Amino acid sequence: MTPLYDTLIIGTGVSGLTAALRLVRKGHSVLLLESAAEIGGLLNPFVRNRCEFDVGVHYLGELGEGQSMRRLFDFLGLVDLQFREINPACVDRFTFADYETRLVKGIDRWGDVLVKDFPKEEANIRKFLELMKECRELNRVVEDGLHASDLPGMVRYGGDLLRLSRMSLAAITKRYFDDPLLRNVFSGPGADFGLPASRASALLTVNSLNHYLAGGYYPVGGSRAIRDAFVDALRAEGVDLLCNEAVTNITVLGEKRFQVRTANEARFEARSIISTVGARVTADMLDNRRPNFMARRKIDRLEPSLDAFCVFVSTDLNLADAGMTDANVWHYGTDDLEARYSDLQAGRIADQPSFMMSSPTLKDPESTRAPGGQSILQLVTTAPAQASQEMREQLVARLLEGAERYIPNLREHVSYSDHTTVARPAHAREQSVFGGMFTRVGMPGMYLAGSSVLGGGVMACMKSGVLAARAARVHLERDALGQLDDLSRAMSWVGRKAMLRTTPQKLHSNLHQLKRDRR
Ligand SMILES: Cc1cc2nc3c(=O)[nH]c(=O)nc-3n(C[C@H](O)[C@H](O)[C@H](O)COP(=O)(O)OP(=O)(O)OC[C@H]3O[C@@H](n4cnc5c(N)ncnc54)[C@H](O)[C@@H]3O)c2cc1C
Repeated sequence: MTPLYDTLIIGTGVSGLTAALRLVRKGHSVLLLESAAEIGGLLNPFVRNRCEFDVGVHYLGELGEGQSMRRLFDFLGLVDLQFREINPACVDRFTFADYETRLVKGIDRWGDVLVKDFPKEEANIRKFLELMKECRELNRVVEDGLHASDLPGMVRYGGDLLRLSRMSLAAITKRYFDDPLLRNVFSGPGADFGLPASRASALLTVNSLNHYLAGGYYPVGGSRAIRDAFVDALRAEGVDLLCNEAVTNITVLGEKRFQVRTANEARFEARSIISTVGARVTADMLDNRRPNFMARRKIDRLEPSLDAFCVFVSTDLNLADAGMTDANVWHYGTDDLEARYSDLQAGRIADQPSFMMSSPTLKDPESTRAPGGQSILQLVTTAPAQASQEMREQLVARLLEGAERYIPNLREHVSYSDHTTVARPAHAREQSVFGGMFTRVGMPGMYLAGSSVLGGGVMACMKSGVLAARAARVHLERDALGQLDDLSRAMSWVGRKAMLRTTPQKLHSNLHQLKRDRR
């Protein structure tokens, strides 16, 4: 007989792992299905030439005592994870055609750096940073609920915040700044999204800047440490984790009964589903139902972003002696960032491509991720859609040439190099907290987690896992909480959150007991 789980989670990246941990800790049975041979998605490192390379983690933010991401790990019980802070005086270096600047820890300190370089824009810079601070507060409200003290800021900046959620980064920076170079600076690590400023969500970019302005951190032991902490915790709770099971179809059998089929023809049943593989892919898996009209409209508007192209290098050079630090280098190399993206979209690569460069051996110097005398470098750029093999090899050669601007003679000292393309999920402009898919995919009992909910990044994906788990719990507990769910669906997210927060804890535990008794 097919076992019936409370929740089946598709994908074992950080969002799926987070959702699973939340649900199992609340007493629900969970099955995680993973199409790859290993658990972890982008948290999975790989080993070549005796070096361990991370894929989806170069740095994380907000990990200081009491900061948002640290609290998130603590909330999940992953208290033993350790992080090493990147030098707060230079977390990121951004280089344009003839101008280099840096991101420092602390929004006001960063403001001082910018005002020094763009004195005529001082008032605009300060005003924009105030808006960024309000944005940070908004995130806190999403996490902790609305307090009376938040209201004046909400009233003052509410309009701008709403606009921010609907506008592109290019549109908002044009509204605030006269100098096009300064507008570029606010793209910051926005290249992560694989979209030009004209199509990147202003809100997601500002969130990303805020995240790293709270300090940059690297996990001791690399992304493997995060993956292992989750997997150990889940195994200790008895969660079923199955690899090599690519979900292909989802059949709705009833209000609280889904059947999932995999490429191996295995079948599983669950009372709710959390998918971390994107809204469109998830909707396409549905066999006998379609998402509701509103969800279909949103899905139709999603635009895919360009892929990330990663080059992994080990070298016998001492990178610190060569002038590298633990900061990330964001080499744009041009002032016309839009043109760079239109070239990529037209399938062309630049003679001197933009890239992000990071060295995990400098960030985690005590690690044993590389044999003695070797250092690791990772370069990430945005790849043209469907780049040919020849184009990829050209890209690797040009990226290594570009890296020599920071590390002289690198090419003569490469011990190993490899490259891969990583598909980024769609980060269309429309995808933001208010206009995005959120956790709903237009089908009761099915929820989304991952980059299509609150945007990309480990923290945003972890938060999406928490939100999806909460939505699944409300669905699972609907027998008793049915009225609450119906009501909450009609309410805004703030109201919904406030309502869930004020539901007495005792009621929740009584309902759990009731459910268990009924089984
Ligand atoms: C090159 C690169 C660098 C990055 N650097 C950083 C960084 O420095 N800091 C940061 O915060 N974020 C960074 N990110 C973003 C961050 O890694 C991701 O946003 C986050 O890890 C995504 O987690 P996820 O759970 O949404 O998805 P993923 O980690 O992509 O997991 C999805 C999982 O679903 C599985 N899957 C897919 N289809 C199916 C199916 N049909 N059935 C079953 N399983 C399926 C996949 O195999 C995968 O394991 C980076 C991303 C990239 C690409």
